[in-house]
Amino acid sequence: MILTFAPYELLMRHPFRIAHFSRTSTNIVLTRIECDGVVGLGEATMPPYYGENIETITAFLTKAQSVLKRYNYPFDISEIMLEIDALAEKNTAAKASIDIALHDLKGKIEGIPVWKMLGSDPSQMPITCCTIGIDTPSVLRQKVAEAAEFEVLKIKLGSDDDKQIIRTIREITDKPLYVDANQGWKDRFFALDMAHWVAEHGAQLIEQPMPKDDIEGNAYVTEGSPIPTVADESFQRIRDFDIIQGAFSGINIKLMKCTGLTEGLKMVSEARKRQMTILIGCMSETSCAIMAGAALAPQCDWADLDGPWLVTNNPYPTPVLSAKTATERGGKIQLNNRSGLGY
Ligand code: MG
Repeated sequence: MILTFAPYELLMRHPFRIAHFSRTSTNIVLTRIECDGVVGLGEATMPPYYGENIETITAFLTKAQSVLKRYNYPFDISEIMLEIDALAEKNTAAKASIDIALHDLKGKIEGIPVWKMLGSDPSQMPITCCTIGIDTPSVLRQKVAEAAEFEVLKIKLGSDDDKQIIRTIREITDKPLYVDANQGWKDRFFALDMAHWVAEHGAQLIEQPMPKDDIEGNAYVTEGSPIPTVADESFQRIRDFDIIQGAFSGINIKLMKCTGLTEGLKMVSEARKRQMTILIGCMSETSCAIMAGAALAPQCDWADLDGPWLVTNNPYPTPVLSAKTATERGGKIQLNNRSGLGY
């Protein structure tokens, strides 16, 4: 199989601000794996705080080209990914870009959708939230208005005035909220107070309340929190389950952290064994990686797959959200019967 790749700059609709960071664009790399004239597409996204850049991705994918050349067909993606994973310690997004392209390719060759390959049931698709980054009250109002087709909002906190952000949101909408502190609450007593306060204001879960290495602090919050806590920065690869055991009630699976669908699927079953809940998340991504996440989403409890809606130059058609009906809230990414990723 032949792997090729090209850099692409995703432009953010609004400067994206979280607890420690702000940016207006995200560098990504689009990958293609070809087999007998059929092409599978993948993607690696590189938000700066994850340590990957064009140079590291190029170096990694160049090594991966020779591995893929030895395989004629994506029969056993797990076997190929074992070899890809062993090429370097990190480069998880580069690895995910290969895993996603292999799934798309195999689906297209065999004429089946990726969600079916993974054993997902589309009727179990969770609602996808739309992320609202930290901003001034007037921009927050604009962002909430732009997110009209989403039934749940994920609010980024960890600012100097989190309560004001939530109050501003609550002035304009009573939609259910997820809250992501992005490690921004440094004191465990303050963090637990905030957990209660945001729950009283309609938050249904809290992502990463405290710094990623403060396992005891996060465990303290989880113990006393009236709503589930979800490990994001504290949880990257499947080996991290032992580190966070007891410190969070759930995990955030992001394909770019965990090297793709192969490990993501294993994380789902491990989380269930440990009676943990699962959020499937994303970074700044095009429809390609988002539809890969959506293929696994029906096996998760919550979805945060809003990437294509937060950028202005998604090179592919935007995924379709289900409409509100008399009995359903809507806002679920629609899976379809096209082979491969289906966007
Ligand atoms: Mg997060």
